[in-house]
Amino acid sequence: MGTSNSESRQTTSYPFLRGQKALVTGANSGIGRATAIGLGKVGADVVVNYVAGRESADEVVRAIEGLGVRAYAHEADVSKEDEVAGMISRMVDEFGTIDVLVANAGLQRDAAVGDMTLAQWQKVLDVNLTGQFLCAREAVKEFLRRGVVPEVSRSAGKIICMSSVHQMIPWAGHVNYAASKGGVQMMMETLAQELAPEKIRVNAVAPGAIRTPINRSAWETPDAEADLLRLIPYRRVGDPEDIATAVAALASDLFDYVVGTTLYVDGGMTLFPGFATGG
Ligand code: NAD
Repeated sequence: MGTSNSESRQTTSYPFLRGQKALVTGANSGIGRATAIGLGKVGADVVVNYVAGRESADEVVRAIEGLGVRAYAHEADVSKEDEVAGMISRMVDEFGTIDVLVANAGLQRDAAVGDMTLAQWQKVLDVNLTGQFLCAREAVKEFLRRGVVPEVSRSAGKIICMSSVHQMIPWAGHVNYAASKGGVQMMMETLAQELAPEKIRVNAVAPGAIRTPINRSAWETPDAEADLLRLIPYRRVGDPEDIATAVAALASDLFDYVVGTTLYVDGGMTLFPGFATGG
């Protein structure tokens, strides 16, 4: 995604994450890209994880550095245990610690259930669910080692899981994806319960329809977009920056008492719009 007009909407320069170190997975495209830049805008130093596409990762790094904070790109597949461990250990070496994990990397491999291969099922579960678990586990080890540093944040660490409205809304033809996001919800809530006594906050953001490469076919033609808008009471397809601002807020001490919550950022998609005139 190139620079969009919507990026100017995130105009706040109040540096409420100043001094904090953030890792955003899948940060060279779409929501991850906007989130990495958005966290830089509010003062965080940012690690830009990517699995493929070094050039676009470097472009995100340059955009973040242009904001006057530090950034570097790190190649790792979030579904590979050793690569995730290496990513966090390099972050501790280079930035000193990790304060914020945005477990964003995700993908779709769509098929009707009768046609879905085990490989399609497994790939989506491996990246969308196991990948979030591995990143969370490694981040938590560092949060526990360091503990609370009051000058930096009231909590010892924050994890934001990128979920989806499909943690709630069943989605025919996407059973692997919907199952992965349902799993993300229960993983997030369980980790939140387990880790709150350690002053670690775990929450999720659940985007609705956001204009990114993952769902290009849903918005790229006028007919497709009109169909999509029928599912969105607010009658606007979301921009990646809509998600970036939500993540930045959840990660900050402004939201220090928010624990184990999913923030739906979906223009009302989860309000059962079919019932607006029926039922
Ligand atoms: P995107 O395809 O633009 O970005 C996904 C990113 O994840 C890419 O950078 C990709 O390279 C990365 N990725 C994929 N596999 C990876 C791996 N194994 N290791 C590391 N990175 C990997 O799509 P997006 O829309 O920006 O999606 C970001 C997240 O938001 C996903 O978790 C997705 O499920 C979620 N989401 C998106 C929407 C939407 O409408 N766009 C809605 C709900 C949820």
